[in-house]
Amino acid sequence: MLGVAIGDALGKQNEGLGRSGILERGFITDYAKAQAGCPGEYLEAGEYTDDTEQMLLLAISLVECNGFNGEDFAKRIARWGEDTMKNSFRKNLIGPSSSAAIKKLVSGTGWRESGSAIPSCGSAMRVAPLGLFYRTLDEVEENAVLSSLPTHKSDAAIAGAVAVAVAVRCAVLGMDCRDIIREASQRASKYDAGLGEKIEVSYMKRESEPDDAFSELGTSYLVNETVPSAFYCFSRHSGNPGKAITEAVNAGGDTDSIACITGALSGAVNGAGALPEKWVKGLFNCGKVERVAGMVFESSVSHSE
Ligand SMILES: [Mg+2]
Repeated sequence: MLGVAIGDALGKQNEGLGRSGILERGFITDYAKAQAGCPGEYLEAGEYTDDTEQMLLLAISLVECNGFNGEDFAKRIARWGEDTMKNSFRKNLIGPSSSAAIKKLVSGTGWRESGSAIPSCGSAMRVAPLGLFYRTLDEVEENAVLSSLPTHKSDAAIAGAVAVAVAVRCAVLGMDCRDIIREASQRASKYDAGLGEKIEVSYMKRESEPDDAFSELGTSYLVNETVPSAFYCFSRHSGNPGKAITEAVNAGGDTDSIACITGALSGAVNGAGALPEKWVKGLFNCGKVERVAGMVFESSVSHSE
C-alpha cells in the first residue's frame, strides 16, 4: 500500500504528459509539485492523488465490514467523490468514468449498475488491499470483480482489477515474478482475453528498452494500456522497487496510475523495507497509509482464522 501511494505521488508530476517531453526534461526521481496543467498541479510535493484516496477508502471499508461490502464501499466512494468534485483544487483528479459513476451513485443508482462502461483503469489502481486481505486466489478474484462494479463495469476494467489484486496475493504467497504474471494473466483472461494476453506480452518485453515497450503496450488511461505497462515496469526490475517505480513515473501518459500499480506489485514482492527511504519519509500522510495497512493486516489475520 505504501508502494501505491509513493508511485502515485511521484507519478502525478508527469500525469498526462508525453514521453518525449519527459525525456527532454529529465527523469523525475523525487517529489516535487506537478507541472502546471497536470490534474494534480495544486497538490503539494509528496502528496498523492485520487488513486491512493480510493485505495484507502476500499481498505477502510474492508476492515470495517470485515470483508468486501458493495453497498458500504459505494457509499464511501460517493461521499468522497462529491466532496472532491466540489473542491476546485482537487476536482480534476477524478477521471471521466469515476465522475460519471459518482453522479449516478449520488442520485440513487445501485452499486452494481452505477459503473461506467469506459474501459479505464480506475478499479485496477485502487484494488491492492483485496490481495492483502483475502487468503485464497479465488476469493481475491471474486471480490476484485465486485469491487470494480460501482465505478467500472466493463469487462476490461474488471479484468484489470482482477489481474492486480491476484498479483498482489501471489506476491504475498511468495511466488516469483514469472508465476505471478502467469496467474494474473490467466485469471484476467476469463473477463478479457486480450488484456490477459497483453499482460503475458509485458513479461516477454521485459528485456526490451522502455521506449519500445511503452509504445507497443501504450500508456493512456485505458486499462489495457496502464496495467500491461505497469506489469512491464515490475517485470523489468522485479527485485528493485525504486527502479520499477521510476520507470513507471517517467513512462508518459497516465503516469500516476501506471506507477501506483507498479508500486503495488513491486511493493508486495519486495516488502516496505525495500522502498527507497527518502520516498517513504517524504510521502504526505505516510502515517495514515501505514496505519490503514496495519489495520488491513490485523483484520486479514482475524478474518481468515
Ligand atoms: Mg490520479
